[in-house]
Amino acid sequence: MKKQIDLQQFPAGNLPARILMGPGPSMVDPRVYQAMAAPLVGHLDPEFVHLMDRTQELLRYTFRTENKLTIPVSGTGSAAMEASIANSVEPGTPVLICINGYFGERLADMAKRYGGDVSTIHRPWGEVFTPSEIEQALREKPAKVVAIVHAETSTGAEQPLDEIAKIVHNHGAILIVDAVTSLGGVPLSVDEIGIDICYSGTQKCISAPPGLGPITFNERALNLMQSRKAPVTSWYLDMSLVQAYWGPNRTYHHTAPITMNYALYEALRIIAEEGIENRWARHRANSEMFWEGLEDLNLKCFIPKEHRLTSLCTIQIPEGVDDAAVRKSLLEDYNIEISGGLGSLKGKIWRVGLMGYTSRKENILLLLAALKKILYK
Ligand SMILES: *Cc1c(COP(=O)(O)O)cnc(C)c1O
Repeated sequence: MKKQIDLQQFPAGNLPARILMGPGPSMVDPRVYQAMAAPLVGHLDPEFVHLMDRTQELLRYTFRTENKLTIPVSGTGSAAMEASIANSVEPGTPVLICINGYFGERLADMAKRYGGDVSTIHRPWGEVFTPSEIEQALREKPAKVVAIVHAETSTGAEQPLDEIAKIVHNHGAILIVDAVTSLGGVPLSVDEIGIDICYSGTQKCISAPPGLGPITFNERALNLMQSRKAPVTSWYLDMSLVQAYWGPNRTYHHTAPITMNYALYEALRIIAEEGIENRWARHRANSEMFWEGLEDLNLKCFIPKEHRLTSLCTIQIPEGVDDAAVRKSLLEDYNIEISGGLGSLKGKIWRVGLMGYTSRKENILLLLAALKKILYK
């Protein structure tokens, strides 16, 4: 056991203020940092209870839903992902997962861990599913739960969601949609599309720090959850318990991360102030400016324009260019973080997040100028 700590070896954190243009976390509006500096109140303090209620209302606005059960899960986007699976899947539940990237694979992994009888359909990374492919899969093997990723952060592809919900419902299943990299940046209307469970994370287009996972359940999802035979395997993510904590009785379940909820509340206020549709339009306009700038630099996007996300852009790394060296120079010489590819796309693409507070012209112009210097010096 160490008797004494030499404080010389433990300087204050002093972390740099980076320009965060990776796949998350995105940059945080100073107003959100300011909100986080407020003193803690108790998690059952009447003022905090009001803040919880207002947060739920602003989340409904952001998700475009009337769903009563709309809350932030205490945990990151992955916790919300796991909550969607844990509550809808029990041992033996037939599940269909659509996999065209890293996060589809994670969904399948989770569904298996909760005992689901999991089938998968696949598309090469970067491509998207057609509604008829999903219909075909459900005809071959019925499922009770279907999950798909709206914004696949590993590839930069946007999955069109039209028609899918109707097909899934016609086959007696519920639809789970991962909106971690789309909510608050890319057009998404939960009720209009007919999504039954939709979840996200605070650190992407919502532009708060990582730590909460907004999620919403409609009646169809609640009915499936009520018909379960086995209790939810995860105690922490069991929505029948968590719901009581966020509902009018405030039955103690866990202590909500108070400061994170201050952050989310302010971030959602900023979204409402801008207007969700305006926010979608800003993400598109700024991304289009970025795409044009890339073209001027002779850089090619990995995803064709029609399925290209406006929150995350993947760029093909040109032949002979050193992936790691470029990212290192961006970080060390220009203070900009971007990210490399995952899995089979490692070394092949860069991933640039243009989410929330990051999606501003000054950041885009700076990144383009830095890329020009590095690539054509
Ligand atoms: C980031 C991400 C997640 C996981 O969120 P964390 O906050 O990292 O836990 C899940 N799905 C998608 C599509 C993501 O981009």
